[in-house]
Amino acid sequence: MSIDVQPSHVDQIKQINLGLVYGLIDQYGPISRIALSKKSQLAPASITKITRELFDAHLVKEVEFPDLGFRGRPAIGLKTDSKGWQFLCIRIDKDSTVLGLRDLSNNLIVEEELSLSASENQSFLNCLAELIDNFFSRHQSHLERLTAISVTTNGIVDPINGIIHNSPHYSIQNLPLSTFLYRRIGVPVFLQHGITAWTIAESLYGAGKGCQNIIQIVIDDNVGVGIMIAGKMLHAGNQSVVEIGHTQVEPDGERCYCGNTGCLETVVGIKNILLKARELASQYPDSLISPATPLTVELLCLAANQGDPLATEIIRGVGERIGHIMAIMVNIFNPDKILIGSPLNKAKHILYPVIQQKITQLSLPGYSQRVNLAATAFANSGTLPAASLIKQSLYSGHLLLEIMQG
Ligand SMILES: [Zn+2]
Repeated sequence: MSIDVQPSHVDQIKQINLGLVYGLIDQYGPISRIALSKKSQLAPASITKITRELFDAHLVKEVEFPDLGFRGRPAIGLKTDSKGWQFLCIRIDKDSTVLGLRDLSNNLIVEEELSLSASENQSFLNCLAELIDNFFSRHQSHLERLTAISVTTNGIVDPINGIIHNSPHYSIQNLPLSTFLYRRIGVPVFLQHGITAWTIAESLYGAGKGCQNIIQIVIDDNVGVGIMIAGKMLHAGNQSVVEIGHTQVEPDGERCYCGNTGCLETVVGIKNILLKARELASQYPDSLISPATPLTVELLCLAANQGDPLATEIIRGVGERIGHIMAIMVNIFNPDKILIGSPLNKAKHILYPVIQQKITQLSLPGYSQRVNLAATAFANSGTLPAASLIKQSLYSGHLLLEIMQG
């Protein structure tokens, strides 16, 4: 090791320790310095130094807590101090965007869904900038110290360089979104694929809390998956997501927008199963589903829950397709938990046993027996996934250091 790499190495250790201590205070606070030292395995002197720095930056505060210390006196513990620290979360969906202002503890201060329409890069940026400006001016009375911006969207995104390469919803190409927002607003910007961010949110506060190995499958208009192994997101640091939606499952199937035919998404995507249900409805005269009336996914689940044979068959069909692919993924990743994020969760007593059965039938028994299937805690909406990116960056020490260096 050469001498010149040492300063950055020391900085990196400082950053990791800072994030570790802040994360423990955030998750266990109020917590005493002694308990922090035990949990972090850092020396008491380091804890004193790090907590002093966080205290001076108004990121943590001291509180008395009833955990009895010596001679029954209340102990002094540390808690995160989120007052005044805010960040903006942006969720870019089809034809709309959700803007949410939150504090460092993730409490939502204000959130709005606004329509977004744009035909190419420049009009997209102009439209988004205008929505943000108007949002800030409408809520000026709530605004305090804005520390970061976090953006989630589906599509092909490069989180490291903050670029949206491609979007299923807008005709944008290689859009340098993070640079644009940073130049305009002057705070760090985080960008991540929507499903990846959602899986991070589930692992921090949702159905995957405490699990290190998670596969989260999303069955919506888009079909995708987020994978966390040993507490780290697979592909979080590059442009890829784990792709299952564009895996061919029907060689003679429909043409997909990706250029291939019979992709999983064309077979089990919500839009497609609703179309299929209406097409098949004429063969099921007793079904609650009719070819003539519009069908929503809520109605489909409702019908299935009432024992409707067509609705049940459609949902079982989704379970079989998904189960087939999940069985392979179970063999590759051996997860602790499989999370399912889908509007079909309303009929999960029909969907889950089919998926479970396929996994049991098709993957290694030693792996499939320990797999636990559960619904995601959060729906595919809102800005909590974007907020989890901020939390993740605080816990890694990266954003903390930026905030503290002002
Ligand atoms: Zn495709």
